[in-house]
Amino acid sequence: MAGEKKIVPSQSVKDLLRAIPKVDAFLDWIGKDADAPQRLVKIEIRRLLDDERKAILSGKAYAKDDLAKESLLPKFAERLAHRLQPNFRTVINGTGVVVHTNLGRSILPEGAIESLMKVGARYSNLEFDLASGRRGSRYSLVENLLCDLTGAEAALVVNNNAAAVLLVLETLAKGREVVVSRGQLVEIGGSFRIPAVMAKSGACMVEVGATNRTHLHDYEQAITGETAMLLKVHTSNFKVIGFTSEVDLTEMVKLAQKHDLLVMEDLGSGCLIDLSPFGLPKEPTVGEVVRAGVDVVTFSGDKLLGGPQAGLILGKKEIIDRIKKNPLNRALRIDKFTLAGLEAILHLYFDEEQALEKIPTLAMMTMDPEVIKRRGARLLRRIKKELSGKCEVSTLNIESRVGGGAMPEHGLPSRAVILKPLDFSVNELERRLRSAPLPVIGRIEEDRFMLDMRTVGDHDVVELSHCLLQAFEVAIS
Ligand SMILES: *Cc1c(COP(=O)(O)O)cnc(C)c1O
Repeated sequence: MAGEKKIVPSQSVKDLLRAIPKVDAFLDWIGKDADAPQRLVKIEIRRLLDDERKAILSGKAYAKDDLAKESLLPKFAERLAHRLQPNFRTVINGTGVVVHTNLGRSILPEGAIESLMKVGARYSNLEFDLASGRRGSRYSLVENLLCDLTGAEAALVVNNNAAAVLLVLETLAKGREVVVSRGQLVEIGGSFRIPAVMAKSGACMVEVGATNRTHLHDYEQAITGETAMLLKVHTSNFKVIGFTSEVDLTEMVKLAQKHDLLVMEDLGSGCLIDLSPFGLPKEPTVGEVVRAGVDVVTFSGDKLLGGPQAGLILGKKEIIDRIKKNPLNRALRIDKFTLAGLEAILHLYFDEEQALEKIPTLAMMTMDPEVIKRRGARLLRRIKKELSGKCEVSTLNIESRVGGGAMPEHGLPSRAVILKPLDFSVNELERRLRSAPLPVIGRIEEDRFMLDMRTVGDHDVVELSHCLLQAFEVAIS
């Protein structure tokens, strides 16, 4: 049939392979237009021609026309444009998951961003004590803030909470036993599991109790001459309900003191403010854990704290001093950008109202549903008329999630903008939005595309409306 491609016989495979343009010929086709480094252009040309070669050899339908300048140049332009975009890009989070691990967890307030830019652009006193003129320690830059905010005697900050747990166990319990409840052997996403981290630290894990219930006497019976520590892990990302019981932290502390042992809590999310007045589940705050008398507590910087990725280690001075001296610490250390962001965030916590308003993670978690509703209405006004005949557009009350493994059972009342394309599938819409220059990430439910307006910032609405119109090839006025 005319115009239709046929499977090519082997003789023409040879012809086709010979007809593939050389890189230099391809460069001539492009001329001087390509606004990209030559080296990258050549890499992409080679890659394209390689793919064409593979297509020919695969025996799939292929015609000589496919090797013409007219077919290859547009293909190349698209690939080059794609290649010139940074790999690491910002996206619009329409998932409603506030602490979205795959989308960068917490986002920072402007003040914290300014601090990051300053220390990036200029030299700083990262490890220089301005008072004495001698070498200083990077940890001291946030230690007093953490102590004042939580009542801890000393503090240290490392790369993330997984590193914090590893470092603490390695310092305090290597070659000795750590007693932990079977109900708390959690796995956090990305293969962080308490038993595995314990093994890496060289500590010997002693499991006690049952999945649903662990009692004080379970811990007591497990204590031997080899025991170094009682560990409590906050089960932040799952819930055991029904016939359950867990030992209170103060009880664990009392038991440990009686036997001259240490107590550690891995708090996971680590909140500095009690969010229960805002209708959120009561979580122990870092201050409460410190006051319960633990020797050391660890938590993440970028979960409920709302700061940059970091692992915070707080506790008794003598204990923290030992951890600071561990050479492993050097391998897990925090970088200067994180420190700058973290200091700015911590400052905000001295005024709780300010923290709740300015720290995006806290602001989004405690947001008035009316504000979210108005944001949805604003987006709707910008797209509804333009998309008529192309897409059904509406709003719907839904529930958002905190995310980051925190408060797993708790839904936050929210509002979504719903799209149902009329001329193509909802999966195609999802793909188009995800591939846009500013990718929009939402979710598909019941064959509709949903954008939860909680995690779409007010400042994102205009850009988001443009992305949506572009996905339907509607011109933006
Ligand atoms: C999230 C979490 C971790 C890991 O923290 P990262 O900062 O992601 O390394 C460890 N323990 C608990 C209980 C957690 O919730």
